[in-house]
Amino acid sequence: MKINISKISRCEGIKENFDIIDKNQYELLFNNQTFKTLPPLSVRGYAVNYEGKIEVDFETTATVELQCSRCIENYVADVHASSFHIFVKEGFQTDEDQQFYKGDEIDLTDIVLNEITAELPMKPLCTTDCKGLCPECGTNNNQRSCGCKAEEIDSRLQVLQKLLEDEQGGV
Ligand SMILES: [Zn+2]
Ligand SMILES: [Zn+2]
Repeated sequence: MKINISKISRCEGIKENFDIIDKNQYELLFNNQTFKTLPPLSVRGYAVNYEGKIEVDFETTATVELQCSRCIENYVADVHASSFHIFVKEGFQTDEDQQFYKGDEIDLTDIVLNEITAELPMKPLCTTDCKGLCPECGTNNNQRSCGCKAEEIDSRLQVLQKLLEDEQGGV
């Protein structure tokens, strides 16, 4: 995800658009889990030389395979991020918010991956009304209903009954 700034960096006011289609697959580390992007990943925007600094403004669109926090099934979601960064030539950095570039290229890979990661949901859901897994039997209730609620009471009664029987049997 590199942009060539050989022209831009030499002349103030010059602006160039870029449209990158990256066909690599990336891994994103988020919440101690690794998520994969599904290629392609698109990065579109422009770079402009403003008072000798390179301002880069772009939009990223990525498809990421996530895991639902309720039913633990994998699902695919589109993730969008907007970014604005200022780059100065290495050695001329004056501000903490500025990043630096070397030579005639700016590599956006790390920035793009960080920004996609920042957009990932804290509690991913395959659908907003995902029914999740049954806490009793583990059935994915989106696929079928296991009817555990009714059985749950029965099984508790059975446990009680069994305890009583054991107590009686033990005397
Ligand atoms: Zn789900
Ligand atoms: Zn169940």
